[in-house]
Amino acid sequence: MMQQIVLCGQCGVPLKEKPGLPVDTRRPCHACGSTSRKFKVSLEGSITPRVSLRYKARHGQGKEPHRKGVVKASWSHLLRRWLRLERTIDREADLYEETVYDPESDDVIHHQREPLSQHTNHGDAKRHPTQKKDDTRTA
Ligand SMILES: [Zn+2]
Repeated sequence: MMQQIVLCGQCGVPLKEKPGLPVDTRRPCHACGSTSRKFKVSLEGSITPRVSLRYKARHGQGKEPHRKGVVKASWSHLLRRWLRLERTIDREADLYEETVYDPESDDVIHHQREPLSQHTNHGDAKRHPTQKKDDTRTA
């Protein structure tokens, strides 16, 4: 939110006065008695750092991760604010789990848990866990 702040033009002290107040209705500054004004625009509201954490678990180097997960911020169009999304994809356990939390109250807003093989989202789980890469090449 944009906010306009009124300051005394003489001494710079912040004044509780509406920015659009006509000059002749201004009251003298409580600190120095001046009716001169300065206006400052400030951005109100806090900026929350939005981090995302990802992990992958492998049995050995070079192998496909058998388990991976992410914790990240997710924008809710419905609530018009950021929520926390936690997703785990476990190929060995054939599990897809996604939970969306309200970061302020920790309430669960959305929870999804299903076999990875039945998960149809075209996101991280687009490749079927048992599907093999086609190594056939045409020269
Ligand atoms: Zn003043």
